[in-house]
Amino acid sequence: MAQGIPDKIMSNTTLIKDLADVAKDAALLQGVLMRIHETPNSSELVTYAPFTLFPTPVPKAVFFQALAVQTHYNTLVDKISQDPDFLEEALASTIAVDDFTARLFRIHQQILKEGRSQSIVLGLNRSDYMLDQGDDGSSSLKQIEINTFAASFGGLSSRTPDVHRHVLKVAGQLEESRRILDNNPAAGLAKAVAKAWELYGSERAVVMFLVEEGQRNIFDQRYIENELWKRNISTMRKRFDDVTKTGSLDQDKRLFVREKRVFFEFTHLAGTKKVQQVLASPGVLEKFFPDQPQIVEQIRATFAGLYTLDMGPEGEKTVAMALAAPDRFVLKPQREGGGNNIYGSEICQVLQGVKESTERMAYILMDKIHPNPVQNYLLRRDGPLKISNCLSELGVFGTYVRQGKDMVMNECVGHLLRTKSSEHSDGGVAAGVAVLDNPLLV
Ligand code: ADP
Ligand code: MG
Ligand code: MG
Repeated sequence: MAQGIPDKIMSNTTLIKDLADVAKDAALLQGVLMRIHETPNSSELVTYAPFTLFPTPVPKAVFFQALAVQTHYNTLVDKISQDPDFLEEALASTIAVDDFTARLFRIHQQILKEGRSQSIVLGLNRSDYMLDQGDDGSSSLKQIEINTFAASFGGLSSRTPDVHRHVLKVAGQLEESRRILDNNPAAGLAKAVAKAWELYGSERAVVMFLVEEGQRNIFDQRYIENELWKRNISTMRKRFDDVTKTGSLDQDKRLFVREKRVFFEFTHLAGTKKVQQVLASPGVLEKFFPDQPQIVEQIRATFAGLYTLDMGPEGEKTVAMALAAPDRFVLKPQREGGGNNIYGSEICQVLQGVKESTERMAYILMDKIHPNPVQNYLLRRDGPLKISNCLSELGVFGTYVRQGKDMVMNECVGHLLRTKSSEHSDGGVAAGVAVLDNPLLV
């Protein structure tokens, strides 16, 4: 592995077995925890959250490029979510054929029509990237997608740097251990929530975490909850069901759950894949940053090729291109959470079925990114200890708070590296495919 972990370590099975035990204990000691699959709603039995035995080499230049562009992405997300005309135009074709997006859009419209109950906007974004490998060995940063209202693994990833540093030291790689940066997205995410809470101006306001039915990843969220409690801000965890049953809005559209006032933010449409594709069309970024060509350039440099499947000549071109070389692309519907994308020959099957109808507008086509595979060991409970060819995805957390027209906070607050075996084309940590990792800057 180039500039990574020496082969003599990677292939020493006795050492690897020892290091895996050391690594698991270090993860438990650091609090890189998850509840077990069998009892997702009890903390009696917990285990380490799946992670890589070693950190993964990431070139410094692209890593800092990703951090540097984050505040501009925050601004962009904010501008888009403030621009109903842009959203309506960008999403028109998708709304026509995709119920899910249509519903989200109607909620968004309703909120705008009723007038915002509070002029405080809180943005928590994570922009995800892969490093596309050039023929000359260079790697370039390409955005996979942006997730709005995304805080997942912001907690646990603040504890993994010490785990990997420890493993490297035990493996005799002291120099390498210094190339893992500190990272604390949990603190940064909580700081933004706290700022919004403060501007909201009510000591009684509570920050509500809307959680899923099964709560295996509770410790990750607890890091952020605890950061808020440290600032004397109350938090509560509610399942979606609880909110619909016991929640109510007062005439100022403040949400109350069981008599407690809740500080609440709606997710928005700026992070949809269709918007991502529209942003990549010529001239669109310029509309959002009219006098800032250098920002346009910085954002655009991270775009992969993205293609419309709308009805019309552009869409026809995309269909023909995808059918001619499906392995070069990923076909994406408007969904979140991993496991929805379509690859390879399946692209042809799906497109053959929808290419003559408006149904094809529910998808976008994207260039497939080819990261350099790196060997590593993926540690997961009951998983076999075996060497795998792995691909990584770098996420960068950004936060912003706006009050009326003033951006009062706009920050890049940390990163998240997730790694999966290259046999899996899709999926996140929660989906059980990707595991937590750290960049080893090279
Ligand atoms: P989701 O909202 O479901 O997370 P993503 O766009 O992030 O959707 O896609 C899910 C996964 O599919 C990514 O984490 C990545 O592993 C893979 N993927 C997505 N787009 C590409 C691409 N253009 N090239 C290679 N892999 C991709
Ligand atoms: Mg997503
Ligand atoms: Mg994703």
